[in-house]
Amino acid sequence: MEITCLRVPQWEKYHELLHGFLGRRGGRSSGPYAGLNLSFRVGDDDHVVKDNMCDMKGAVGIHSGRVVTMTQVHGDHIVEIKDRNLKEAGEADGLLTEQSGIYLGVLTADCVPILFVVPAQKVIAAVHAGWRGTMTGIAAKAVKLLLEEHSVLPSEIEVALGPSIDACCYEIGEDVSRPLIEKWGDLAGSCIQTRDRRTYLHLRNLNQAILHRAGIPESQIFQIGPCTGCAQEDFFSYRREKKETGRQISLIGWHSQ
Ligand SMILES: [Zn+2]
Repeated sequence: MEITCLRVPQWEKYHELLHGFLGRRGGRSSGPYAGLNLSFRVGDDDHVVKDNMCDMKGAVGIHSGRVVTMTQVHGDHIVEIKDRNLKEAGEADGLLTEQSGIYLGVLTADCVPILFVVPAQKVIAAVHAGWRGTMTGIAAKAVKLLLEEHSVLPSEIEVALGPSIDACCYEIGEDVSRPLIEKWGDLAGSCIQTRDRRTYLHLRNLNQAILHRAGIPESQIFQIGPCTGCAQEDFFSYRREKKETGRQISLIGWHSQ
């Protein structure tokens, strides 16, 4: 089965930029991890995950250079990557680099993978935002880092939010809705829906609103791909599969000259 990779149409003009939101299609994993599981931490066979990583790199066109991932812990720590040989960045939920030839990867199954690009300076970032990361405002933190430490203007940043669980499928309790509303007020309120006395959260819309409030023009924030809870054939979903499932990867990096 062929690997699927969703791209941002508005980014196709950046010829040296490699990016994409990959799904579960293709790959060699089986059972609950079928097929393109790219996480070594979910109980899948390490050898198979390694093969998946190789297949995936070939399919998207990474012929030299590393894919850097991190041990995601639902926090707001963002690491800057300078070492081209690094494969694992340690405990973090965001990666950033100014160097070409380094491909940043986020692993998800319902949480929002967020890719950032500053085309003029070739700076990129990749962030993992579940509800906890969203509460801490990791997306806004990435913007702040770009502004304060990389001399970027908000108008120069473009952001894409990938396949993640939307309000159709993401039922939440008060333990989630209350802290989100306390932290984000109306921004969170407008992303929380009630149906049949149940409460649902649109995690992607909330991150989009947070990014807009952080200064990024609406026209430079893109949502790509479906709800992971709905798209059973195409994406892993932690909630739909009741926790035992794989992780799909979202990638961004500038090819080396
Ligand atoms: Zn859904």
